[in-house]
Amino acid sequence: MYDYIVVGAGFCGSVIARKIAEELGKKVLVLEKRKHIAGNMYDEFDEYGILVQRYGPHTFVTNQKELAEFVKKYGEWRDYDVTARVEIDGNLMPIPFNFRSIELFYGKEKSAVLIDKLKKAFPGQARIPVYMLTDNTDPAIQEYGKLLFEKDYIPYTSKQWGIPPEKIGASVIARVQIALSYDEKYMQQTYQMMPEDGFTKIFHNILNHKNINVQTGTDALDMITADGAEHRVLYNGHEIPVIYTGPIDELFGLKYGRLPYRSLDIVFQTKDMDYFQSVAFIAYPQANGYTRSCEYKYLTGQKVNGKTTLSIEYPLQYDPNALKGNIPYYPVINDENRKKYQQYKNLADKFQNLYVCGRLGDYKYYNMDAAIERALEVFNQIKA
Ligand SMILES: Cc1cc2nc3c(=O)[nH]c(=O)nc-3n(C[C@H](O)[C@H](O)[C@H](O)COP(=O)(O)OP(=O)(O)OC[C@H]3O[C@@H](n4cnc5c(N)ncnc54)[C@H](O)[C@@H]3O)c2cc1C
Repeated sequence: MYDYIVVGAGFCGSVIARKIAEELGKKVLVLEKRKHIAGNMYDEFDEYGILVQRYGPHTFVTNQKELAEFVKKYGEWRDYDVTARVEIDGNLMPIPFNFRSIELFYGKEKSAVLIDKLKKAFPGQARIPVYMLTDNTDPAIQEYGKLLFEKDYIPYTSKQWGIPPEKIGASVIARVQIALSYDEKYMQQTYQMMPEDGFTKIFHNILNHKNINVQTGTDALDMITADGAEHRVLYNGHEIPVIYTGPIDELFGLKYGRLPYRSLDIVFQTKDMDYFQSVAFIAYPQANGYTRSCEYKYLTGQKVNGKTTLSIEYPLQYDPNALKGNIPYYPVINDENRKKYQQYKNLADKFQNLYVCGRLGDYKYYNMDAAIERALEVFNQIKA
């Protein structure tokens, strides 16, 4: 018999399972609906021998030393600086937008004048949010800010969220940072790392403990019932503490309606060449349908001659019954959905033996480091 049931073998579920097994010495059963562990971080070798991430590219970044140290306990990692470009009007520009982007947009002479104005307007500032451009009183600086919205932020966000461009509130994007130099560093976090042998291996090591049993290909909702009258969660009729990292609405039979998500159709392409792109990521705000491509060998550091695999992301609405777009990726956070989520959360809080967490349980976009942090927080509640 088990002491705890954990639903979901992503970061949140796996980390909690490990902590319970190791620190409390209790028996844990992990139930995972997919045929594999590692949640959205799952990677595997494709038919050409290239390590790819099936649910879209992930790189581990954090400012928190403890979280970097935590994941290092479960495998080898190498430092990795993410490199990215955006294709605009046929030019590949740096992300974040920087002085090089200004040169590509405006040509030599005009760019020199604008760069000079920016240096004077924002002395000593390495990066600023884009709204500081559009809010500036100088028409040339304002024009540059508007150009970035028009060529990149608005069309990209429109595709990502399936919202017509005219309905995109500028405030959603206003805090995106641009660089006031030639700096091309994409991510600002102190620790930027990739697992030497892939993410799945890290998960294998996290879950590899004598007190943990993992059942993949198992929908926990076939075994778990939320007894609304008694406010107890039952596993095969038994009352056992349950840590649930699946979608909170599904746990309660969509009682208050379905929580919406955006999804992605991720299309893989393999090319007969060493490298296809010049960097790991390219964003395509102006392309038809797709938003981003990733070339995996850059992320993994894998050396394979004559073959390279990319994934291309096509955003679409989440529909659990569709062939494409049936994975809930990004919660659609707005007032209506926040209220709906809160109803589920209030209900979940009434259940003594239930802990709901993770990006699907909390209906919140977490990066991996935030998912681990949340897992550690929930473990502390369990321990207490
Ligand atoms: C395209 C994309 C790219 C991303 N890139 C990055 C990145 O570069 N860096 C970064 O830090 N973060 C990134 N993220 C975020 C990252 O994926 C999340 O932080 C992480 O997945 C959160 O882990 P989790 O355990 O909460 O959720 P998940 O990984 O989704 O794990 C939940 C698990 O529960 C399982 N489950 C659901 N319902 C049931 C059920 N009924 N029974 C059994 N199992 C069930 C699911 O199958 C899943 O495996 C990205 C996300 C996306 C969508």
